[in-house]
Amino acid sequence: MAYSEIKVVAGGLAHIPIIIGVFLFIQKRLQFGGKSALSDTFSKKEAVQTAKKIVSAPPEKAVSAPPKKVVSPSETTSTSKSIAKKPHSDVPINTYKPKAPFLGSVTENYSVLKEGAIGKVQHITFDLSGGDPFLKYVEGQSIGIIPEGEDEKGKPYRPRLYSIASTRHGDNYQGNTVSLCVRQLEYEKDGETIYGVCSTFLCNLSKGDKVKISGPVGKEMLLPEDEDANIIMLATGTGIAPMRAYLRRMFEPTEREKNNWNFKGKAWLFMGAPKTANLLYDDDFEHYKTKYPKNLIYTKAISREQKNSKGGRMYIQDRVLENASEIFKLIEDPKTHIY
Ligand code: NAP
Repeated sequence: MAYSEIKVVAGGLAHIPIIIGVFLFIQKRLQFGGKSALSDTFSKKEAVQTAKKIVSAPPEKAVSAPPKKVVSPSETTSTSKSIAKKPHSDVPINTYKPKAPFLGSVTENYSVLKEGAIGKVQHITFDLSGGDPFLKYVEGQSIGIIPEGEDEKGKPYRPRLYSIASTRHGDNYQGNTVSLCVRQLEYEKDGETIYGVCSTFLCNLSKGDKVKISGPVGKEMLLPEDEDANIIMLATGTGIAPMRAYLRRMFEPTEREKNNWNFKGKAWLFMGAPKTANLLYDDDFEHYKTKYPKNLIYTKAISREQKNSKGGRMYIQDRVLENASEIFKLIEDPKTHIY
């Protein structure tokens, strides 16, 4: 999906009521049940405050920083000086501006859907080699894509932001690529099928095509440095993009070697898709779960194949509700971060 920079911020803010709603919904449901661990320990006001603390607190507290001091890789060798350093000050931002973008070339563009899935979702990788300066990024950031062509006013298209789906090492571990996970936007208007400008441009790219890239941007969705942190992830569809990068960083053997960061906490992914065939990167996540059963829980909500307890479509919030007491226990742990 495409985002303008404003939409990314607005999109992040838009999730606040959703998350608060999820927690209130859980609380209400458990209270009706009459014997809730939640209702014993949380009032409605507290549930709202808890949700606010997790989602709307300043980024470094909410999702991007461990609860105490933030230690970035470059800080670990110096001590007194590092205390004065701002958290994530070494995370690259806007190395390439939209007016002077980097020209990346496509190295692969393949479907991440299985047979029978709805729509079109592609995994697209760009070569970043030769950039001066080099376009570095970290997990949880986004890049801008400037599609070829002009808008209805005859002006060049503005960049759209996409969440990065690869780790800083790239899918080939060489540290010279960036990958995206993109659904082609498609909707009906006045009897006509409309396709998204940038998502269509991206989904139809061929190997070797050159694409204008800006960024990276965003410090709101960074992973904590703490190897013992707990990471709860709530995703639907292509919203999985940054989480795919987190999970590779946590559980992919070559990533673990390269990172010198051996995740030891609990990661819990709630993933929503309309059909099983629409689950993105499912084989990888299943593999990580088998290899690290103590560190990864992978819970799926397949809306058009599974039913919730009321007989409606199964959504990720229904899965959260099923696991409410465990989730609340985790939330009470200051080492827990929610994305
Ligand atoms: P998709 O494959 O169509 O899957 C979306 C899933 O969410 C479907 O199972 C859908 O169910 C379900 N859903 C619909 N309404 C819901 C609700 N109110 N609560 C919970 N689940 C609901 O998804 P997509 O087109 O790729 O988009 C996924 C979402 O991620 C979009 O909202 C997109 O804007 C967002 N996104 C975010 C980022 C980011 O970086 N933050 C990046 C990319 C995309 P039914 O359709 O069966 O009802």
